[in-house]
Amino acid sequence: MGTNEVYDVVVVGSGAAGAMSALRAAELGLSVLIVEKAHKYGGTSATSGGVMWIPNHQLEPGDDSPGQAYQYLDSLIKTPIQRDRLEAFVEHGPDMIRFVKSLGIPVMASTWPDYFFEAPGARSDRSIVCDTFDGRELGDKFVLMREQYTRFKLMNRYSMDLPEFFLISTRGAGWIKALLKILWRYWTDFGTRRIGRRDRRFTTGGALMGHLYKQVFDRGIEVRLETRLDEILVEQGEVSGVRVSHFGRGYDIQARHGVVLCAGGFEWNQELRERYLPVPGLTRHSSTPEDANRGEALLAGLRIGAATEHTEGGWWIPTMHMPTPRVSNFEEIHQAAFDVGRPHSVCVNRNGQRFVDEACSYDEFGVAMVADQLKTGANTPCWLVFDATFRSRYTAGGFMPTALMPDWMIPADYWDHYIFRAGSLYELAAKIRLPYDALKQTVAKMNQYARSGVDPDFGRGGNAYDRMFGDPTVTPNPCLGPIETGPFYAVAINLGDLGTKGGLKADAAARVLDEDGRPIPRLYAAGNNSGSPFGHLYPGAGGTIGPAMTFGFVAANDIAARARQAPQAVTRKAKEVA
Ligand SMILES: Cc1cc2nc3c(=O)[nH]c(=O)nc-3n(C[C@H](O)[C@H](O)[C@H](O)COP(=O)(O)OP(=O)(O)OC[C@H]3O[C@@H](n4cnc5c(N)ncnc54)[C@H](O)[C@@H]3O)c2cc1C
Repeated sequence: MGTNEVYDVVVVGSGAAGAMSALRAAELGLSVLIVEKAHKYGGTSATSGGVMWIPNHQLEPGDDSPGQAYQYLDSLIKTPIQRDRLEAFVEHGPDMIRFVKSLGIPVMASTWPDYFFEAPGARSDRSIVCDTFDGRELGDKFVLMREQYTRFKLMNRYSMDLPEFFLISTRGAGWIKALLKILWRYWTDFGTRRIGRRDRRFTTGGALMGHLYKQVFDRGIEVRLETRLDEILVEQGEVSGVRVSHFGRGYDIQARHGVVLCAGGFEWNQELRERYLPVPGLTRHSSTPEDANRGEALLAGLRIGAATEHTEGGWWIPTMHMPTPRVSNFEEIHQAAFDVGRPHSVCVNRNGQRFVDEACSYDEFGVAMVADQLKTGANTPCWLVFDATFRSRYTAGGFMPTALMPDWMIPADYWDHYIFRAGSLYELAAKIRLPYDALKQTVAKMNQYARSGVDPDFGRGGNAYDRMFGDPTVTPNPCLGPIETGPFYAVAINLGDLGTKGGLKADAAARVLDEDGRPIPRLYAAGNNSGSPFGHLYPGAGGTIGPAMTFGFVAANDIAARARQAPQAVTRKAKEVA
């Protein structure tokens, strides 16, 4: 099992937490190896929107402050959390983003309302995005980075940045021009077309991870693919390395100063979902890369006595599924986060009742699904019911508006399986087995609210966040439009996720703690492999990647500081003498 391989730091997992941790450790003079189980690097992070939530980031002159960040977070966090860990995030998030900027990575604040915009201390400038990246700069590693999520690629091929994504999916002013520009850029890139269909223009999470990995590779850091962590090695009470396997062959790698677990959550492990989540949902409804994050590093941590926290929560997002074109027996998960709150639609449980402000943030939507499922047993899945006006204008998960995907283009065998259509609400209710009277009453109420512009039940469209994804051409409330023009449609909405919120319990320095609250020497965790500093709260866009990168950064700083103070050789000798 043993090899002679020794690194200062071994990072497990190549997502945002892992890339940042490795990059920072290398910057501080440590030798680093990243081991990655998948055949591609970048993790969920590379598929994501790439947004980072960092309060008080100071990228531009502004008046945000730690005090305002605590005002916001303290008013919302309901579960007990480690206060010093939250403070470490607020303090070091800006340091991390300054480090990113110092590397020449083009990060900038975007206008994105915090997810609880009515809460004290909320702002709309804490979400940071990264400008596009030319994937060809990764050289022969271009094709090895995980591709962006399907919905950030038009027709599963042409990359869109976030403004293009929102513009085209809502057919906003100038959407045709934006579309033509994307097609032109792609088809005139003759050099890349010669080597394949992948768009060299990396956007969203692809842009963030592309920029980070350019820096990683420039520093000579190896990312060892198809190499899975199986065990954490412990010698004389201290973590000394990892046992990994590569196509079934196991071997050990030593880590002189630290192992950083950045192997994501446990969303693809049904057994762990059943163990921890009050409403477990299904692995196949997750929108993260299939089969990557199965909680092996969490389990390996448990085996050496680590504690866990916040494992009851997922980073929820409503999803729907449809078949993958040209691949038999595979289904593709589509996020429906922004669709469920658009006008001319309503979401109901299987009793035909509403249960949430549908235009709220996607995590809140999932939290409401969980609560309603526990209360009624008639959620997960629930239904998005919409009319022909909605169908003509907006996306419904993987179904594009009729201008791009008219009904005749939808394969016949999708109807009444993945999408339902009927001439009347009565027929639709029968098809999807909802009690008609309840649905009729719910829709009648929604139509009344659409006219008054006020939703007294759940406040849909009553705050800046809701309205950001509404349709400004619909008045008086951009999130409410009557559901009255047939035919009527429905798609099932699942309790999907972007990963899980809980994991190994780590402290303010990202050190993994044991059941007695003591740090396990030389073991660190960041990202979804560790518990979120916010408990169960998803405070704003980028609320998972912001902390993931911050604690990856913090872990590397701590490892480097300890390595400087007590070089390994000296520590070992002292221990042997003792
Ligand atoms: C479509 C989409 C959009 C999203 N948009 C955003 C956004 O804009 N902002 C935001 O904050 N969040 C977003 N999220 C959520 C976010 O992407 C994740 O929460 C975040 O990327 C997790 O980062 P991570 O580094 O912890 O894990 P990951 O990026 O998932 O990386 C974990 C890596 O560890 C590897 N791994 C797992 N097990 C092992 C093992 N045993 N050995 C070795 N390697 C292993 C995995 O293969 C994976 O590559 C989005 C998610 C999706 C799906």
